[in-house]
Amino acid sequence: MKEENKFEAIVIFPWNKNFETGIKQVDEEHKTLIKLLNKLANSLTQDETFEIEETFNELAKYADYHFKSEEAVWEKHLKDNVLINFHKKSHNSFLPKVLEIREKNKDKTLHETIEEILMFLIRWLAFHIIDEDKRLAYIIHSIKDGKQIDEAQLISDNQMGGSMRVLIDAILSMYDNISSKAIKLIRERKARIEAQRELQKINKELERLSITDQLTNLYNRRFFEELFQRELQKSKRNKNIFSVILFDIDYFKKLNDTYGHGKGDEALIKVAQCLKKVCKRPNDFVFRIGGEEFTIIITNEDAHTATNLAQLISKEIKALKIDNINSEVSAYLTISAGVISIKPTQYDTIESIMQQADKKLYQAKSLGRNIIID
Ligand code: GH3
Ligand code: MG
Ligand code: MG
Repeated sequence: MKEENKFEAIVIFPWNKNFETGIKQVDEEHKTLIKLLNKLANSLTQDETFEIEETFNELAKYADYHFKSEEAVWEKHLKDNVLINFHKKSHNSFLPKVLEIREKNKDKTLHETIEEILMFLIRWLAFHIIDEDKRLAYIIHSIKDGKQIDEAQLISDNQMGGSMRVLIDAILSMYDNISSKAIKLIRERKARIEAQRELQKINKELERLSITDQLTNLYNRRFFEELFQRELQKSKRNKNIFSVILFDIDYFKKLNDTYGHGKGDEALIKVAQCLKKVCKRPNDFVFRIGGEEFTIIITNEDAHTATNLAQLISKEIKALKIDNINSEVSAYLTISAGVISIKPTQYDTIESIMQQADKKLYQAKSLGRNIIID
């Protein structure tokens, strides 16, 4: 569900029983027009101009349909009367006026343009319905009661004058007031939705940062522990193989001492990029868990996958030919690794598994380094 939809719609043009003409078809169509008007106003809380355009077109199309349908109602009772021509003129002035506003606001945003159109529509519709349409409706009611047109017109004028005039003017000014406030509210709602979206983006970025190692952009130790627990549980439940590669760069202190700490950092970044390139399956998770110590968690693969991957990583890192001239095993940077691949039972924990991996890594180091023990 879109976040915008979580809000209750703002009613920019509330229906009021003074708008009722007493002619069912006309009243129903007016209600639909007003519904579309409210829909257009609320579409302004969205960024997508497509939806606004679509609602605008829907309203314009319905207005056109309604004018014709309403004119047919008047025509039926007041054939060829001058009042009808007057009314048609009023209808015909509607769309050109809307298009004029659009043209005038060509350089403004669609949101601003539609706001102005809405203000016009509200004023126009309120006046049209409460004054012009009601005037004709009163005439028709009198004709239906058996009055002649002239007399019916007099009665209608009377009904529309006096205290009714005062009421109409009051309602029209109230609607002006309500609608400008509603538009302001819609603008504020849009700003709020945008702020919420921004906040969500920031939160997501914060979350990403909290699980990322700053130097290498790999996952960090904190996330290693979290993901380890989660994946271990999953492997236990599904009786899948769970593997960990733990590796450590050989003679890294010598690299730092020989070329400086900056070169050491560069080497770590290159190793990380190489890991990202090699470990690309969705079930390979790569972490920097300490200074020059990395782990890879692999789930849902067969028992040899981890060892093969460790060998590939070792080969690819050697192929980077990162100078480490004072290393005692190679002129270039190498790694030593311990690999664990198990079908975990309830007794296996992060501590017990990492202890085993550590032991194998220690063995690899003792045997001279640049070795993988599985
Ligand atoms: P071994 O083959 O036994 O692993 O020897 P080593 O020199 O690699 O291991 P040791 O633990 O003696 O030294 C690790 C070095 O890694 C020491 C530390 O300064 C360096 N180091 C740790 N984190 C960073 C880092 O972020 N950047 C750089 N440049 N060096 C780091
Ligand atoms: Mg080391
Ligand atoms: Mg170390």
